[in-house]
Amino acid sequence: MSHITPEALAEAAHRELDAILKKTAPLTPKERIAIPVQDMPTQDPEVRRKNVQEVALGYTPEQARLESMRCLQCRNAPCVQGCPVRIDIPGFLKAAAAGDFLGACAVIKKNSLLPAVCGRVCPQEVQCQEHCTVGKSLKSVDKAVSIGRVERYVADLERDSGKAVSPVIKPATGKKVAVIGSGPASVTVAADVRREGHQVVMFEAFHKPGGVLVYGIPEFRLPKAIVQKEIDALLAMGVEIKTNFVIGRTRKLKALIEEDGFDAVFIGTGAGLPKFMNIEGENLVGVFAANEYLTRANLMKAYDFGRADTPIYRAGRVAILGGGNVAMDAARTAVRLGAAEVHVIYRRTEVEMPARVEEIAHAKEEGVIFHLLENVSRVMGDENGCVKAVECLRYELGEPDASGRRRPVEIKGSEFIRDVEAVIVAIGNDSNPLIPRTTEGLKTTKWGNIIVDETGKTSIDGVYAGGDIVLGAATVILAMGEGRRAAASINERLK
Ligand SMILES: Cc1cc2nc3c(=O)[nH]c(=O)nc-3n(C[C@H](O)[C@H](O)[C@H](O)COP(=O)(O)OP(=O)(O)OC[C@H]3O[C@@H](n4cnc5c(N)ncnc54)[C@H](O)[C@@H]3O)c2cc1C
Repeated sequence: MSHITPEALAEAAHRELDAILKKTAPLTPKERIAIPVQDMPTQDPEVRRKNVQEVALGYTPEQARLESMRCLQCRNAPCVQGCPVRIDIPGFLKAAAAGDFLGACAVIKKNSLLPAVCGRVCPQEVQCQEHCTVGKSLKSVDKAVSIGRVERYVADLERDSGKAVSPVIKPATGKKVAVIGSGPASVTVAADVRREGHQVVMFEAFHKPGGVLVYGIPEFRLPKAIVQKEIDALLAMGVEIKTNFVIGRTRKLKALIEEDGFDAVFIGTGAGLPKFMNIEGENLVGVFAANEYLTRANLMKAYDFGRADTPIYRAGRVAILGGGNVAMDAARTAVRLGAAEVHVIYRRTEVEMPARVEEIAHAKEEGVIFHLLENVSRVMGDENGCVKAVECLRYELGEPDASGRRRPVEIKGSEFIRDVEAVIVAIGNDSNPLIPRTTEGLKTTKWGNIIVDETGKTSIDGVYAGGDIVLGAATVILAMGEGRRAAASINERLK
């Protein structure tokens, strides 16, 4: 598909909105459905392959209004049922359609703390937008109201307007809460608990707060300046952030309660433990976990050649193993780090790929090559112990497995060799094990996820948990929802 320039999209929206505003009668449902879906303006694929700036450029005000006008304002609001934090979607779209963008943002912020982040990275196509009546009438989720894009627009506008209202902090209670980790679950807890007047100290293992939003999701999908603004807002509220502080090493969790006087602790340490394939050759030079590769590239700015000192393995032909968001991020990062060929190898078909449809489309536009129904059975090295190829097997789909997806079945004797110089393993992450291992009495599942009750409370009194450490690798919005629930319980406890 040829690239439509942002100027052409802006011009078309301008004309369309002009024509609608000339009408005197309110729009009928039929007229709303007839408004064309507003495409997201993007950088040209040929240009963006060589930079790390954001791919999606954001709507113009006209596009944001038009897209919002497509909403039918359904009374039963099925979209809200699809939103994990139950944002009043028709409410914010109504305000945006009228051009009241700050009002729209205020509606979203009642339920979501990070709309500029969620507008960018939430999998809306399987959440709110999947249930949209407009999409259903037009028989395609691609034609649903682009709720996330409007959310992003109003959140960016609010941030850039300088009119964001700082939350009111209640008088100091003298109570102290430790928040471990600084991803979306922890950011939500810190804000919600601080608002009640409790002192909050956040402990982060890395040198920068933000969790996966800064170390995992690349700049070209989520600019780090946006995350930093959210962190700045926490600091402005009086949250103290201690970086380079690993709970379980620098200080044990129980010492926070027994010696440091914390009245409650929240654990939001995420799922940062990479899974490997456990195949021959996985220890060769040139094989990486996607998390490590992305952390070097993002957090440690390895893409900033000439200025950053971070070593990163740069190879001509790179194989990415996996089909989720992490795999797409690794593949697209490899493109930007100068790989001539990037091969995504995935055992199932595109339909079963867990990555967002938009990320797969963007990866393809940027030249990433997809090999479906294929898997790597062995990594092969040269005489120096460096990767020189992968041995692959072909697969076919069998019966559905426990997840409902059709099980990939290998085709015996289908082995063949693909020449590559680097392999990035992106087949999933497990929960960080350090805190459960160093905290007596903290119960986990057999997969290492911390067990909590319906209020977010763990097996230790006064200790709460949420986000990926509880759910396993999940999503930003679910982590925020968990954080909100745990914060409500902590606030109740400290009343
Ligand atoms: C590459 C990648 C891409 C993704 N893309 C998307 C996407 O497009 N959309 C989406 O919704 N979700 C996406 N996700 C998932 C999403 O980012 C996570 O579900 C979410 O960040 C989980 O939030 P969290 O707060 O539980 O933990 P995290 O964001 O993982 O943050 C945990 C923090 O805790 C810190 N920590 C760990 N152990 C300790 C310790 N012992 N002491 C102190 N600090 C500690 C870590 O350093 C980290 O900063 C992606 C994940 C990855 C890895």
